[in-house]
Amino acid sequence: MASLDVAAQRSPAWDATFRAIPEARNIGEYVRIMSARPHHLGSPYGKQNAEWILARFKEWGWDAQIEIYDVLFPTPKERLVEMVAPTRFRLTLEEPAVAVDPTSSQKAEQLPSFNAYSIDGDVSGPLVYVNYGRPVDYEELDRRGISVKGAIVIARYGESWRGVKPKVAAERGAIGCLIYSDPRDDGYFVDGVFPDGPMRGKDGVQRGSVMDMPTYPGDPTTPGRGSTPGTTRLDLKEITTLTRIPVLPISYGDAQPLLAALSGDPAPINWRGNLPITYRIGPGPAQVHLKLAFDWSLKRAHNVIARLPGATYPDEWIVRGNHHDAWVNGAQDPASGMSAELEEARALGQLVKQGWRPQRTIVYAAWDGEEQGLLGSTEWVEQHEAELREKAAVYINTDGNGRGFLGVGGSHALEALVNAVAKEVEDPETHSSVWKRMQARAIVVGPPASRAEARNRPDLRIGALGSGSDYSAFLQHTGVPTLNLAYSGLDSSEGIYHSIYDDYYHFTKFLDSDFAYGRALAQTVGSLVIRLADADVLPFQFTNLADTAQTYVTEVQTLLKDRQTEVRELNRQIEEGVFTAMADPRRGLRQPVVDTVPPSINFSPLENAASALTQAAERYRQALDAARPRLTPDAIQALNKGLIQSERQLTDETGLPRRPWYRHLLYAPGYYTGYAVKTMPGVREAIEQKDYAEAEREVARVAAALSRETDLLNGLTRILEQGK
Ligand SMILES: [Zn+2]
Repeated sequence: MASLDVAAQRSPAWDATFRAIPEARNIGEYVRIMSARPHHLGSPYGKQNAEWILARFKEWGWDAQIEIYDVLFPTPKERLVEMVAPTRFRLTLEEPAVAVDPTSSQKAEQLPSFNAYSIDGDVSGPLVYVNYGRPVDYEELDRRGISVKGAIVIARYGESWRGVKPKVAAERGAIGCLIYSDPRDDGYFVDGVFPDGPMRGKDGVQRGSVMDMPTYPGDPTTPGRGSTPGTTRLDLKEITTLTRIPVLPISYGDAQPLLAALSGDPAPINWRGNLPITYRIGPGPAQVHLKLAFDWSLKRAHNVIARLPGATYPDEWIVRGNHHDAWVNGAQDPASGMSAELEEARALGQLVKQGWRPQRTIVYAAWDGEEQGLLGSTEWVEQHEAELREKAAVYINTDGNGRGFLGVGGSHALEALVNAVAKEVEDPETHSSVWKRMQARAIVVGPPASRAEARNRPDLRIGALGSGSDYSAFLQHTGVPTLNLAYSGLDSSEGIYHSIYDDYYHFTKFLDSDFAYGRALAQTVGSLVIRLADADVLPFQFTNLADTAQTYVTEVQTLLKDRQTEVRELNRQIEEGVFTAMADPRRGLRQPVVDTVPPSINFSPLENAASALTQAAERYRQALDAARPRLTPDAIQALNKGLIQSERQLTDETGLPRRPWYRHLLYAPGYYTGYAVKTMPGVREAIEQKDYAEAEREVARVAAALSRETDLLNGLTRILEQGK
């Protein structure tokens, strides 16, 4: 019941009419066209795709244009990796064409395998295996007395975002970094390898950006502003988001001889992958020579921006985007999501022909340069920031799509709306609603607490957003309420992610092969867009936000309590002498040292602010329900003006500690996890980094943000009560 009353609609219900229009075969055709050739940022086919997308929007009745940016995108001039001792071996660094896969042979247009924003370098040193290369893995090395100072580290993909691996390695004194795909994580351990199965074979390589996105994404030379042609830029030396050491991704075919040449103790059990070797850490005797050189010129990015003007509230915008650039052919990432967006655009154009006029302005975007570091979307948001702050009501993002369950992350004020729409969209395989299928999964896979919630809470919970796609600048820099959606869970695109094999052949054989979930995605997102564009009062449900904030408060309190318990237990074990008693005298493990128990932190400002928000959200909900039938146009306008500013209250102009670009105080990508979200990041990361004074300061800032939201809602409630 909580879901539907916020999503009041005009009649006729245009979103129901809309849902009958998208066709799976159109989506398949768009995927085929866009993935026909490699189309990375700066490539001829990338530009051609942007022009093709522009022509489609125009054909379907949209007012569309291309907006260009010049952005730094280093591409490889030289890549050399060789083992020089104990034997000599030069790595192939090549992904070969596969006979049955026609586009895999387009070598002349393919970007080679590399990590973008690695610095140039020519380094030699002993090799050390560092598991996933997370801070916790280096703590294990410390206990073993192994240093990576002056070494080249080899980390496996997974668990942390790739850009975090060279960042932590450099902090630890390494001089170079290799990242490989272990078959345990996305190869034969999981399923058959391409072309017999969907997973990564011995020569497959995951390309990807290693820009320090948790500091700031977008063009590295113009932080905080649009990188329009001719603008002033930072020098290469002034940029803080390049890696400090050279880094290159490799296949497991190339990694295996290197790993097999390491000596020392066997690696801990959870460090072992699935290659037919004994995993050891080193250092050495394997010695590696890594040489990388890049072309550091600017490349041109082409964003396509299309509009349907709003009839009643032209200055309130519903923005929706997906990127169009890929690492290579990119049928899954991004064409599967971009194609759903295009089919929505065609269907919305049809509604206009049938007489529909959206009340609010709808802006559809096809971003360029996402793969390098969210370049197209970030530059556009930075350039248009003042206007977006005033007008952008919501941003909806998609990226690659697959088969299975609807996954949603985003602003929790939109949780009720997403639930309402998910109940209207039919799952193409089970023919129940996609909501029913989401609920079933939450019941089956969740822990007992979330199982009970999935059964009893009116709305299924949505996740919080960290980073990894084009929503970051909207949500975390500008405070625009955001949703990110995709279907997934019944297929796996992990095995071809960012390789030359992410193409039409693989997609139609192993993923959403009949594009039925592409159609479901278009139906889902299009319905959201129509409801947001047409609702009299923007359909935000703040009781869901308040409830989520309460859970975050409990989480950060539990985090501190768990730390205190851990440290007390460790200190007790040291006192009891258990480490000395357990030690293997033949293998020297370093003994842990007594640590300081974390002090208590005063969380009461946060607790008080969260409960005040809970009350304000409930009062607003009741006042809106009571007043809705009698609302005057003036009152509606005043309400929406306030509602557009609601997510902005959760941001702070000075940003997070040490990374001012990130202004949202509830959601941010983790400084040491990369894509994975940290909620109430200022408080949480300060506790994790053992800076308890900072944690206390951040408690006050988050509490102030929640109080601003409470004040805004109380103001809106007064408007509603006066309207009686
Ligand atoms: Zn993508």
